[in-house]
Amino acid sequence: MPMLKDPSVKYRPFPQINIPDRTWPSKIIDKAPRWLSTDLRDGNQSLIDPMGAEKKNRFFDLLLKVGLKEIEVGFPSAGATEYDFIRGLVDNGRVPDDVLIQVLTQAREDLIKTSFESLAGIHSAIVHVYNAVSPLWREVVFGMDQSQVRGIAEHAAKLLRDNAARFPQTKWQFEYSPETFSTAELDFSIECCEAVMNILQPTPENPIILNLPATVECATPNVYADQIEYFCRNLPNRESAVISLHTHNDRGTGVAAAELGLMAGADRVEGCLFGNGERTGNCCLVTVGMNLYTQGVDPQLDFSDIDEVIQTVEYCNQLPVHPRHPYGGELVFTAFSGSHQDAIKKGFAKQGERNDQLWAVPYLPIDPADLGRSYEAVIRVNSQSGKGGFAWVLEQDQGLKLPKRMQAHFSRHVQELADELGRELVAGDIWDVFQRAYHVNDPQHLQLIDFEEARANDGTRVFAGKIGVGGQVQSVSGRGNGLISSVVSTLAESFGVVLSVKDYSEHAMAAGSEARAAAYVECTGPDGQTIWGVGIDTDIATASVRAVLSAANALRLG
Ligand SMILES: [Zn+2]
Repeated sequence: MPMLKDPSVKYRPFPQINIPDRTWPSKIIDKAPRWLSTDLRDGNQSLIDPMGAEKKNRFFDLLLKVGLKEIEVGFPSAGATEYDFIRGLVDNGRVPDDVLIQVLTQAREDLIKTSFESLAGIHSAIVHVYNAVSPLWREVVFGMDQSQVRGIAEHAAKLLRDNAARFPQTKWQFEYSPETFSTAELDFSIECCEAVMNILQPTPENPIILNLPATVECATPNVYADQIEYFCRNLPNRESAVISLHTHNDRGTGVAAAELGLMAGADRVEGCLFGNGERTGNCCLVTVGMNLYTQGVDPQLDFSDIDEVIQTVEYCNQLPVHPRHPYGGELVFTAFSGSHQDAIKKGFAKQGERNDQLWAVPYLPIDPADLGRSYEAVIRVNSQSGKGGFAWVLEQDQGLKLPKRMQAHFSRHVQELADELGRELVAGDIWDVFQRAYHVNDPQHLQLIDFEEARANDGTRVFAGKIGVGGQVQSVSGRGNGLISSVVSTLAESFGVVLSVKDYSEHAMAAGSEARAAAYVECTGPDGQTIWGVGIDTDIATASVRAVLSAANALRLG
């Protein structure tokens, strides 16, 4: 069946919210919201294979490590796995004093009772009850009118109040979700919440959490923000409620909706790490948190070892994190294209010259190091990459900073290999082709074994060295104005290799006792061709001799 030429016969635009004096568009988010992870509940119930006890415990530990202070741990009335896991957290004292665990229950007497029992003995906890309130659910799913649906909420609130009284040693908090809030009449959602508040009597000191789900995301995120602002403005006793957001990602804007919802006055965000959850998932807490961070706001969540977070999440969910998922994906800091690589390379160089810490690197909105990522993966080389890419990789991997003109020379070798292999080149590939191209560590050809340098009476330098070639060592010598020119004349006299040095440069490769130096020579051969040589040694003079021998090998071997 083809897509409809006129989709308006099947789909209708979502109506706008009548709030012309909306204020949220000019608000900014300047502090972290309260966060609730629902990985172990909403996330878990959406998995192909829901987590068992081992995975749930591992995920719980990860959430604590990341710094979550409110964690929805499950649906205790759903079955033994859930109930036993939650009891285990309580009985084994696994919930720190400053962490609130939360359980979800439908608005039914037996289920609410079981939910409280799963938490008996804990210092404090949140019981979260929900019922769907929007017209489609009222009419299609339940066959109920508004007052009947409000009655369910009121009944649930009484059960919360009465069950809490059975366990007075626990400090209880309550969360109520008018589920399907995003598609419900706003005034009816408020009516249900108000009815629940009238029973539970929240105060500013002990507020109720009102969670407003975009159970199904069905409009642009500004509409959700309008709904939140409208709700906050019109809810009686607003100061006794914590407004919580629970966005799904059906239109791909779950994160945007949560952010605009915060601007519209909400206090709390529910979601999952990397946005796991029903259908297209929940709001991604990593993304919202790091979005705050890159605006200079402390998210109060710690993603400084993002790879460990991903590893655990992928293990527990048995679902991969997309390689391009914001902040966490394997490829999000990686540039393949030459122009991007070049800009990033320049950005890093400039960054090193700054007197402050302010981050300003083209194409990288965040310093990968803040997430525990190294710079090595930032620039990766394939057939689309230019000179900047492999030069960066060589610098990061081997500490070599090739002169500009040598980069151009070497790029032909890299390009050939990339085309030949038809895949991304890793650092090892580039190092291999570099060693081959410049005869580094190559015992088959002219190789320096040892040398001495002396000054003659006339002021010239004398090079006296042992050079191996094809397994044989020859003692050779030559004379020149300096070390390099004495090596050049040695090569001409003893091996018939004629070259002249046009340019020479050197640099230290690393600090400390292992420090080595790299030397580069640009030479001209007898036919005027340009030849490059490179030498690496702990001794800078030795490195320069090796560089000349490297050029000589290139000339001899063509
Ligand atoms: Zn949900």
